[in-house]
Amino acid sequence: MAAHQEKKLAQERKHKPSQNDTQPSQGQWGRAWEVDWFSLASILFLLLFAPLIVYYFIMSCDQYQCSLTDPLRDLLTGNKHLSDIWNKTPTLTYRAAGIYCLWVAFQVVLYVFVPDFCHKFLPGYVGGVQEGAVTPAGVVNKYEINGLQAWIITHVLWFANAYYFHFFSPTIIFDNWIPLLWCANILGYAVSTFAMIKGYFFPTSAKDCKFTGNFFYDYMMGIEFNPRIGKWFDFKLFFNGRPGIVAWTLINLSYAAKQQELYGQVTNSMILVNVLQGIYVLDFFWNEAWYLKTIDICHDHFGWYLGWGDCVWLPYLYTLQGLYLVYHPVQLGAANAVGVLMLGLIGYYVFRVTNHQKDLFRRTDGNCRIWGKKPEYIECSYTSVDGTKYYSKLMTSGFWGWARHFNYTGDLLGSLAYCLACGFAHILPYFYIIYMTILLTHRCVRDEHRCSSKYGKDWKRYTAAVPYRLIPGLF
Ligand code: NDP
Repeated sequence: MAAHQEKKLAQERKHKPSQNDTQPSQGQWGRAWEVDWFSLASILFLLLFAPLIVYYFIMSCDQYQCSLTDPLRDLLTGNKHLSDIWNKTPTLTYRAAGIYCLWVAFQVVLYVFVPDFCHKFLPGYVGGVQEGAVTPAGVVNKYEINGLQAWIITHVLWFANAYYFHFFSPTIIFDNWIPLLWCANILGYAVSTFAMIKGYFFPTSAKDCKFTGNFFYDYMMGIEFNPRIGKWFDFKLFFNGRPGIVAWTLINLSYAAKQQELYGQVTNSMILVNVLQGIYVLDFFWNEAWYLKTIDICHDHFGWYLGWGDCVWLPYLYTLQGLYLVYHPVQLGAANAVGVLMLGLIGYYVFRVTNHQKDLFRRTDGNCRIWGKKPEYIECSYTSVDGTKYYSKLMTSGFWGWARHFNYTGDLLGSLAYCLACGFAHILPYFYIIYMTILLTHRCVRDEHRCSSKYGKDWKRYTAAVPYRLIPGLF
């Protein structure tokens, strides 16, 4: 695969601009160098309120049976004071700190010290040492892709404990959920602060650092592009996938175990949430090498947005459906359960096929078949910071001819299915689809802004050929 990617890079026909080359019309690409007031306001808002939002959601399940309005009503009517709610909130415990340290240390060991063996026996799986995308400074990093293996080992141990060893209860995550939240926050802030200091004093690749001069923006959006410790411990790959995404399925299993303990059964809605989100998580690890080419890894710098987001936001808010179902065990009728399952599977199919089409197209440099035909595309060029010119292609057929981000549309359909599994009694489980719609729409705009700077007039030709972003004919 590494050789394959080298070939792909060669196929991008890299060359230094000669006198005959026309000057590139586009500007610098990569994350912003200057901060506008709107970005700054959004960043300050998130830094102040994102941790409170997470606390509010988890606290309202713990103290108000997942009602988002009851805590506010209590506070506004004077029925309760902030201090009453705070005093009822579980504090950090030694037990939770021990569990969390063991968990993170175990994932570090699996990441750093256990080279991938899955690619040796799983046909079609791409693991082991792989190359990332070329960075704005022209660096190509190598990564040890062993996330699937880490996920399998972790889950085998989890089931072995649940059914055989009984060292700890499978409800352990649910039972320590708020104390674990404090641990996740400590790690999230520690790693983001460390990444900022590292960016200033000992960056891994100084040429790929960006300083806007605005402390808050740099803290949030990161300075270093690919901070590493040693040769292999890559912050972005580790925190993006583990511990948060490996934990995602374990958290859901812990919720299912809690339902079993409380009600003597696991409802079909809990099974649907476990299965549909399990497919999504497994897909992530099966395609971990492919994720090296996604925005998080190949465009975003590592700051609080990724560091804290991966430690706290993702494991706590992406698992709200399972948490809700512990407090409200919904048993869906057969037709509704099948409907939710179909919507989830269709969403997953669109998400996977769209992503696969782009991956195949880019890997083969367009020498492939999409829906039985040769793909259509627009030739485009871009320039890295050292002035090297590269050529690339933007596909305009398959799902990529329907909309410029049809993969996001599939993701949104799947997200809606998780929420619908919880019925309509409360808004809390619908947070996920609301958040994903905002995240992916904003991501669309952010990505297109970056692509427009990167490809200049070629990007205009592309948007003229594929005019819609998410929903053909509408948006
Ligand atoms: P994409 O995989 O869509 O990658 C966008 C990049 O692809 C662009 O920057 C451009 O990069 C290239 N590209 C754009 N259009 C074309 C085209 N027509 N042909 C070929 N290449 C093209 O986006 P993401 O990295 O954001 O998302 C990857 C997946 O991850 C998505 O399915 C998304 O739904 C999912 N996701 C899930 C999240 C979650 O929290 N659950 C969060 C974020 C993403 P280049 O510079 O190489 O041209």
